[in-house]
Amino acid sequence: MRAKVLVLGGNFGGLTAAIAVKQELHGDVDVTVLSDRDRFLFNPSLIWLPFGKRAPTDITFPVAPTFDAAGVEFIQDAADLIDPRAKTVRTVSGHVHPYDYLIIATGTRENLDAVEGLRENSNWITSLDGAIHTGEAWRRFRDAPGDIVIGATQGASCFGAAYEFLFNTSYQLRKAGLKRRAKITYVTAEPFLGHFGIGGLPHGERLLGMFLRKENIAYRTDTAMSAIEDGAVVTADGTKIKYAFTMIVPPFTGQDFLRRTDGLTNAGGYVEVRDTYQSKRYENIYAVGLAAAVQAPWTTPTPVGVPKTGLPTEQMAHVAAKNVAAQIRGEEPASHKSFGDIPAVCVMDAGNNGVLILADKMLPPRRHGVLVPGPQNHAFKLAFEKYYLWKMKGGHVSLP
Ligand SMILES: Cc1cc2nc3c(=O)[nH]c(=O)nc-3n(C[C@H](O)[C@H](O)[C@H](O)COP(=O)(O)OP(=O)(O)OC[C@H]3O[C@@H](n4cnc5c(N)ncnc54)[C@H](O)[C@@H]3O)c2cc1C
Repeated sequence: MRAKVLVLGGNFGGLTAAIAVKQELHGDVDVTVLSDRDRFLFNPSLIWLPFGKRAPTDITFPVAPTFDAAGVEFIQDAADLIDPRAKTVRTVSGHVHPYDYLIIATGTRENLDAVEGLRENSNWITSLDGAIHTGEAWRRFRDAPGDIVIGATQGASCFGAAYEFLFNTSYQLRKAGLKRRAKITYVTAEPFLGHFGIGGLPHGERLLGMFLRKENIAYRTDTAMSAIEDGAVVTADGTKIKYAFTMIVPPFTGQDFLRRTDGLTNAGGYVEVRDTYQSKRYENIYAVGLAAAVQAPWTTPTPVGVPKTGLPTEQMAHVAAKNVAAQIRGEEPASHKSFGDIPAVCVMDAGNNGVLILADKMLPPRRHGVLVPGPQNHAFKLAFEKYYLWKMKGGHVSLP
């Protein structure tokens, strides 16, 4: 009987891992993907959706044809319980799926209870629904402009998206002739500008400071939020920063169903993994991308999380796929890559400008790290979006 690999989640990590396992074993394996969503979402473009620069259909595609062409079975259903003894996954619809090897790529959910009033009064762009809702708030703001607060709470990790939205907002205000009527304040848990949750890069603080000054944006770093009121962000020291429009990046948490499996996750609901991306507890369970736990090599006065961006997610998925294939062949998992050693490659978009972020490692100590500003980065980000959607839709997961 052919080995059965079950993949939970069908986005960056799940789509890559599922097709990569199939390719590693030249098709001689049964691969099934279970995902609650039937469309791939290119999350990096959510920064543009509220401004009407993208519609949901521009940045999503149905995954079933992609999996079908790769010989992978796709089932739209949400995993509800992993039973490592029986080697099964039960779904919310009550179906039970057996597996020999399981790859978890279920990402995260937004923790909107982390700050009082966040859910009720704020907007966020860290999910498709959130970005659509933010777009509605932005359109209301344009009819009645005022001050703006953009930020990232304590424990947040997606700082790159917060900066991108900040600079895109400033750019959109200028285009709409509203720049002088709206004072923008950036409020962040980062200990300094340009920390990004990855410890910062050489000259990053100075460069981000220049960008903020040029755009006339006020900022507060190392700042926790105690409440989001209707019309004001309240910081931990009691300061109220008034807003007519706000977007706050919330912290993430692991998917709740994973916590129900004994010994699988840490307190945050993230799967504790080795550098082979096997669970620390279960040899035949893997986790990749946002779902995998990562330990930051620092503590900050105001807590910040580590961003797990697209490139490390894909690399984790390939390492996991190689190791699952090795186990199926009766070999030891020999592919190792710790998260901190994966290179950092990212573009921070700023409306009509941008910053290319390059480092030899995601986490310090590093030998090389550089930030390259310039309008070419905006053009690169636009081109990359098209390329990446083409690549994933075609199932070309071995391309960079
Ligand atoms: C606003 C924003 C901007 C970003 N910008 C960048 C960027 O510029 N560059 C970059 O490299 N990265 C960026 N990222 C990060 C990037 O999106 C992530 O690295 C990537 O999405 C991680 O992939 P993943 O597969 O681990 O998780 P996800 O992409 O979140 O996928 C998880 C999948 O699991 C499914 N799922 C959830 N629960 C279940 C369940 N119970 N059962 C079955 N399926 C389930 C979900 O529907 C989803 O399809 C950005 C992220 C955001 C939110």
